[in-house]
Amino acid sequence: MEVAIVGGGAAGMTAASRIKALKPEWNVRVFEASSYVSHAPCGIPYAIEFDFPTERLMYYKPEFFVKKRGIDVHLNSKVVKVKRGSLVVNENGEEKEYEWDKILIATGASPRVPPIDGVDLENVFTVDLPPIVDRIKRAVAEAENVVIVGAGYIGVEMAEAFSSIGKKVTLIGKYDYPLPKFDREIGEIVRREVEKRVDYKVEKVVAIEGKDKVERVITDKNEHRADVVILATGVKPNVELAEQIGAELGKSGAIKTNEFMETTVENVYAAGDCAECINLITGKPSWIPLAPTANKMGYVAGVNMSGQRLEFPGVVGSQITKFYDLEIGRTGLTEREAKAEGFNVKSAFIEAHTKVPYYPNPKRVYIKAVKDVDTNRILGAQIVGYEDVAMRVNVFALAIQAGFTTKDVFFSDLVYAPPFTPIWDPVIVTARVLRF
Ligand SMILES: Cc1cc2nc3c(=O)[nH]c(=O)nc-3n(C[C@H](O)[C@H](O)[C@H](O)COP(=O)(O)OP(=O)(O)OC[C@H]3O[C@@H](n4cnc5c(N)ncnc54)[C@H](O)[C@@H]3O)c2cc1C
Repeated sequence: MEVAIVGGGAAGMTAASRIKALKPEWNVRVFEASSYVSHAPCGIPYAIEFDFPTERLMYYKPEFFVKKRGIDVHLNSKVVKVKRGSLVVNENGEEKEYEWDKILIATGASPRVPPIDGVDLENVFTVDLPPIVDRIKRAVAEAENVVIVGAGYIGVEMAEAFSSIGKKVTLIGKYDYPLPKFDREIGEIVRREVEKRVDYKVEKVVAIEGKDKVERVITDKNEHRADVVILATGVKPNVELAEQIGAELGKSGAIKTNEFMETTVENVYAAGDCAECINLITGKPSWIPLAPTANKMGYVAGVNMSGQRLEFPGVVGSQITKFYDLEIGRTGLTEREAKAEGFNVKSAFIEAHTKVPYYPNPKRVYIKAVKDVDTNRILGAQIVGYEDVAMRVNVFALAIQAGFTTKDVFFSDLVYAPPFTPIWDPVIVTARVLRF
């Protein structure tokens, strides 16, 4: 059996490893366009902030997959065409054709580049895969002013990275607070924290200018000096190969898959950032491109491609980031999203301490949560605070995935001791304020 995996990121390498574990006699080829496999794009901001070698963003080296797992890894090999039963790959500049019986498309997502002049100038970057880190580090070593266009989580993480190494950072967002996928109550706390360290501007970028290298960013209101520009204006799924072979796309524009990671074309699977999966709250297909989901989708695809059956139930959209000491996480739906989905919504916003007030150094935490008034089911929670945000987002994530009501959360038997939490944990308090 000839198996082809296109893309050697989280989804592709997890699937390849699973197939070789279940079917050691099968021939599994991974085609990866870059020189890295099993990489961690999530670590890019931190490789810049803490200046560690970029190779550390590879969880396992290619030799590990070749020698220990028996996977045939093709680096610098971009698949340019997929046909029924075969594919064409540009391998180190040479075109080759390989046959496949089953194929996984795990091509990830790519940054969206805004349609403005100047995006091709030297020192204008998008943040995508680890090989970009060394180029950004070289450019930024000489830079004084860094302008980041886009204030989603990648923009905010890059803003921390550059300001912490002493650069003057301007972060340009479209909305009056960064991280616009959060509700306003949370976004305003983030904005106050961001403004302590970087210049946050709500402007529309119209052009990037300079002779060869970038010199300034022009907006509808201002002109910002820039030695380096980062474009962080969102991502789009890489679906060209799926389209070539006739696989349907979903409403989100990502590849439509069922719970077995099968596309609409027989023996063609898709997993990771290029594919849709079910949102467990709405029951609808959704596109939430994140690393844990990509790994799990890859695992499920690998099992099913090997001839066993395993379903991927879906996600609730749990995610977390930080800006310096402020931790910012969410799971489920925001109030805005829940209303757009037609839920009859009640929300609560609380401010609390992370531990009992008499214990040294309790920190602030803020929770906004949303419930469905008709069923009392918790629909989502957003949390910002100065410690243990991940732990509390994860509690909500499991509660939402399990379909818990506010009463179920209120009576959750969570831990307590003075160094760790208040007696009434902020999660429990939120459920009480939401009523049941
Ligand atoms: C700066 C940054 C920070 C992030 N932080 C987080 C975080 O904190 N938490 C989180 O959950 N997620 C985070 N993410 C998202 C996370 O990195 C992705 O969800 C995850 O990498 C998806 O894995 P994947 O395998 O689907 O795609 P990718 O990791 O993108 O891998 C796809 C691979 O396919 C290859 N490829 C594409 N087309 C072809 C082709 N035609 N031929 C051959 N190879 C091809 C690409 O080179 C790439 O290596 C971050 C992303 C970035 C960029």
